Amino acid sequence: GAPFLSVRDLYVRFATEDGIVKAVDGLSFDLERGKTLGIVGESGSGKSVTNLAVLGLHNPRNTTITGEITLDGQELTGAPKRTLEKLRGNKMAMIFQDSLTALSPYYTVGRQIAEPFRKHTGASKKEARDRAIEMLRRVGIPQPQTRVDDYPHQFSGGMRQRAMIALALVCDPELLIADEPTTALDVTVQAQILDLLKDLQQETGTSIIFITHDLGVVADVCDDVLVMYAGRCVERGTVREILGKPHHPYAWGLLSSIPRLTASVDVPLQPIKGSPPSLLNPPSGCPFHPRCAFRDEVPGNRCVEERPLLTIENGRGSACHLTAEQKQSIFAERIQPM
Ligand code: SF4
Ligand code: MG
Repeated sequence: GAPFLSVRDLYVRFATEDGIVKAVDGLSFDLERGKTLGIVGESGSGKSVTNLAVLGLHNPRNTTITGEITLDGQELTGAPKRTLEKLRGNKMAMIFQDSLTALSPYYTVGRQIAEPFRKHTGASKKEARDRAIEMLRRVGIPQPQTRVDDYPHQFSGGMRQRAMIALALVCDPELLIADEPTTALDVTVQAQILDLLKDLQQETGTSIIFITHDLGVVADVCDDVLVMYAGRCVERGTVREILGKPHHPYAWGLLSSIPRLTASVDVPLQPIKGSPPSLLNPPSGCPFHPRCAFRDEVPGNRCVEERPLLTIENGRGSACHLTAEQKQSIFAERIQPM
């Protein structure tokens, strides 16, 4: 059947004083029900923008979106604001790096969790409060019946992150978008939060998009991975494929310093020589060519002149002019021995 979430030929452009920023440049991907898709890339690669577009949270005044986003058969691109508002917090929800973005300092944690539940289900005040307590208990807040009336500042950072997860999950969303949700936390709390998300996913079957620059997190929680560069998908595959035997030179760069498949949660993404391209004026051909150490392996000037297409077979593919044999031998001889 059709995938639960499908994104087709997504383009997101912002008008700025300096010109048009091509933040997402022809992106397509699917997410199956109950699966976790990691979206990996440097900042400015279009990861967050893509997901704001899915949620309908972009600013319509300066943003142009084309393409097709379908959630459970429902078309989201061009859907009325009210439709998207109804879906957000209910069928789809999000958690962020900074819980203070999601939680208001002016209301108690319990009220903030209860409110969307009332709004989307029509539950009574008492029922919604009970639900809030139940959610706080599920995310591991001790003595939730006494903490429900606390304000966010009375919670520790890790507890606030848990409360934000409780808020995101209070209406049993079918799609959860997590944008760097553990980046600000220390390693122990980070591991606890990741375990919590995995447990909750097992219980509820929620599909998750996990945006991160941390390959350790990817190894820990994701089923499939999409690697983004300059607003495009440059590689996609299962977590084993991408971490074990990536095909794209950019992914090689990301991986070059971590022990393969033994990554723990504290392995940060390695910076790659050079800087991410300007999206006002993206490089011609392959957007990675100014930083790529392998472009001379491709005959002619193809890397500079011709955009490599992404062809996906059985969920696996990469956008690079190197031949399959070249990718194999370069990886085996020059990348893996590290
Ligand atoms: Fe490098 Fe060329 Fe492949 Fe781009 S297409 S990643 S420049 S080898
Ligand atoms: Mg971001």
